Amino acid sequence: MAHGVVADRVAERPRGPGEPAIRLRHISKRFDNQSKEAALRDITLDIYDKELLVLLGPSGCGKSTTLNILAGLEEPTSGELYFGDRLMNRVPAEERDVSMVFQSIALYPHMNVLENITFALKLRKVPKEVINERVATITRMLGIDAYLQRRLHELSGGERQRVAIAKALVKRPHLFLLDEPFSSLDADMRRQLRAELVRIHRELETTMLFVTHDQEEAMSVADRIAVMRKGELVQVGTPLEIYNAPVNVWTSRFVGTHPINLFEVELDPSEPRARLVGQGEIRLPMAPALYARLRGLAPAGRLIVGIRPEYVQLTPGSGGDGAWRGEVFTRQVLGTAILYDVRTAGDHIRSVTSTQDRLDLGSPVTIAFPWERALFFDRETEQRFEV
Ligand code: ATP
Repeated sequence: MAHGVVADRVAERPRGPGEPAIRLRHISKRFDNQSKEAALRDITLDIYDKELLVLLGPSGCGKSTTLNILAGLEEPTSGELYFGDRLMNRVPAEERDVSMVFQSIALYPHMNVLENITFALKLRKVPKEVINERVATITRMLGIDAYLQRRLHELSGGERQRVAIAKALVKRPHLFLLDEPFSSLDADMRRQLRAELVRIHRELETTMLFVTHDQEEAMSVADRIAVMRKGELVQVGTPLEIYNAPVNVWTSRFVGTHPINLFEVELDPSEPRARLVGQGEIRLPMAPALYARLRGLAPAGRLIVGIRPEYVQLTPGSGGDGAWRGEVFTRQVLGTAILYDVRTAGDHIRSVTSTQDRLDLGSPVTIAFPWERALFFDRETEQRFEV
């Protein structure tokens, strides 16, 4: 039956993958009572047909406002919203063919699971056979097909959230919006539902926009991530693009389970070496080509270096002359790896290494990293240099 659903959806929406299904153009939103900065500033974003796009950003950055504008629950102050070629700015919510799942579940407590899921379809007078087929498919996918006759108070939080998702999916919306849908669930249930959501998205080939402030959640479900900060779009890209090539220091800090190491370096004026600012007189050699390139990018010679903890190598002992030394400050076993926090002369450096290289607390270590894994940022603007 799942194949039937897929075929049905392709027939309904002839757009090919890779084509923007939804376009936001210079969308801004200022609420009447907002005196300071606007909730959204000049958001231009394409949402591709059938993709799962995640809006990621800290609390208050404008994620929900963006969703509400897509759903027709808020109007932009300026800018245009298109579904396909159709301008949607003044189209009422009920005509948008959009379904939304919120963190707080919108279910009817006096109805059983089946009645909740089918309520909207019955209102729309969808034929009974179609309803039955869709309910069977979606509830099986979500693993709630055995609970159809249950009342809501007879379900766990995770099961109720699945019912809410089924209720939204069964409408076969053109666009499916999820606003922090799993945030009230425990970590295990969240992980499980995320994985299921990704699978359902593949099977149903629906365009989905998922909002979260949790970068790990974004990384695990997204085809692409749109990073937002203070009402602005900071970067759009695949999870790996954003992880490996963040546009600026802020984004490099915001993504990644273990915080990136950031420190300032000063390029030696005559030799291919970099002095670690605030770390004593340590000068790390670098390849002449990289040195020349960085000199060109930062004529004053100072830049911010970012290196993810998984690329930092720790070796027991104090090393030879000029080694970058530290002392194991904390150690956290992560299962297959250990996260070390190493105290250096001027800072702390984090390293994630395999559990085989066990280092004792307080023991001396030398720190190294491959320059080719480093990110380089402008010291003034904090924008990343393309090296
Ligand atoms: P969270 O993750 O906490 O839900 P968010 O990223 O979804 O945050 P929004 O809810 O979109 O952020 O809010 C963006 C900004 O707009 C915030 O500064 C918020 O205080 C403000 N805002 C949201 N709704 C209104 C409103 N109805 N009236 C006035 N200001 C609002």
